[in-house]
Amino acid sequence: MSIRYMSIKDTAPVALAVKDRVEEVLARTPKGLLINNEWRDASDGGTFDVENPTTGETIATLASATEEDCRAAMDAAAGAQDAWARTPSRTRSEILRRAFDLVQERKDDLALLMTLEMGKPFAEALGEVRYGGEFLRWFSEEAVRDYGRYVDSPEGNLRMLVSHKPVGPCLLITPWNFPLAMATRKVAPAVAAGCTMVLKPAHLTPLTSQYFAQIMVDAGIPAGVLNVVSSTAASMVSETIMADPRLRKVSFTGSTAVGKLLMKLATDNVLRTSMELGGNGPLIVFEDADIDKAVAGAMAAKMRNMGEACTAANRLLVHESVVDEFVAKLAEKMSALTVGNGLEEGVTVGPMIEAKARDSIERFVTDAVDRGAEIVVGGKRVEGPGYFFEPTLLRNVPRDARVIREEIFGPVAPVITFKDEEEAVELANATEYGLASYVFTENISRGLRIGDRIEFGLMGLNVGVISNAAAPFGGAKQSGLGREGGAEGIHEYTTTQYIGVESP
Ligand code: NAD
Repeated sequence: MSIRYMSIKDTAPVALAVKDRVEEVLARTPKGLLINNEWRDASDGGTFDVENPTTGETIATLASATEEDCRAAMDAAAGAQDAWARTPSRTRSEILRRAFDLVQERKDDLALLMTLEMGKPFAEALGEVRYGGEFLRWFSEEAVRDYGRYVDSPEGNLRMLVSHKPVGPCLLITPWNFPLAMATRKVAPAVAAGCTMVLKPAHLTPLTSQYFAQIMVDAGIPAGVLNVVSSTAASMVSETIMADPRLRKVSFTGSTAVGKLLMKLATDNVLRTSMELGGNGPLIVFEDADIDKAVAGAMAAKMRNMGEACTAANRLLVHESVVDEFVAKLAEKMSALTVGNGLEEGVTVGPMIEAKARDSIERFVTDAVDRGAEIVVGGKRVEGPGYFFEPTLLRNVPRDARVIREEIFGPVAPVITFKDEEEAVELANATEYGLASYVFTENISRGLRIGDRIEFGLMGLNVGVISNAAAPFGGAKQSGLGREGGAEGIHEYTTTQYIGVESP
């Protein structure tokens, strides 16, 4: 099977009107640090470049926060906390709702920035704007409904008042793969709960977060509530801010390795932590699955975001009796994908985020092939500018191959087979991760039975994408702690207080 490519070098006239607006949108995107609602330069004038992974070209130069800037951001967040906590929840809710509306109005700008700095196809970027925006709407609704309770003690000697209070200033650290959604998933519940914050976006994709922060300012967020410190010195940012005794919480989305470092740092001041970490998701296809549905689910769970998703189906576990049909149908779909510049119409797969990531994918494939895996589709990097790798389907993959044991974070789908339900569960759980999993079977009792036994925070039953602002998102085992979204999401940013009152 072969893959059709858009030519990367000689890009055809662009069909998407947004492409004409690249310069204008980049020019309007703030390049400074946001502290007390003012965009400012770094204290030492330092900057860093943001690259477009499709072309390898620099598209913007941003201020790179110093230790002094991090302290200033923390001062701003700490200074604003008391008044913000006492701001009526309706006011906080309305700011979020206005931000939601502004995200809708400016959706093309946000999607364009994501395609430029991260590479995902424009249609997928628009999908992320829809998903990411929903956290603003959902938490605008949750903000006014965070109920406590008022009851008599069992002995009748006390009236017990239980309420939720904002935990206090938070440090929010986000990854590069979903530049908008990872920010809104943290900022929205923090605003709803009444917390102030310092946001550190990933230095590879800061532009979307910078633009989003301006939306929050335009929506009326008071000075000091949301501060943004983009920087290339990530560990300096976390060490400086987490050493400040006024900080109360760190919420991190990224790799398990960095999450562990941050959890260690958090012990000194006994900080609350939310950790959304890596994954090694199984997608199980039983012999009684609707194979077309399973193939569609695998395409969504594996190929969305070029496979650069913590929820990606990393391992496709297929019953031995249906593996030939499944692989043939999946190969057909994967071969029909179009790799190229995400601003070109018809492109469905963008580049990897950087050369290092593309090289890592290549090593994963080489390792699998060296151990005996067979390449059904793709298998190679795409030469030319940008960091492209072909959508790749592997079968007969040995269970000790790195693609099975580690998080791939790219468009590579390794298929392994199983004989029965017991073996499927065992294979699925044979990882230190426990974020997303997917099960395909037309027998719903079997699906729910697997749900009982699978050690994953999320499971899709006959569906390949399940993330939703109204649902609790988060992992088990080394995939992390805490939940984002749903009714649970706001409580990551609150602390519970009990007041015992003498009974009248
Ligand atoms: P990463 O851990 O390298 O970086 C994430 C963020 O942490 C970035 O902002 C980075 O600058 C920052 N960082 C790096 N070192 C730091 C340090 N010492 N102190 C403070 N901050 C530091 O991860 P990544 O490569 O950006 O993202 C990919 C990883 O994120 C994958 O493992 C993926 O599974 C995971 N992820 C998880 C979720 C989830 O919700 N569970 C969502 C998206 C991505």
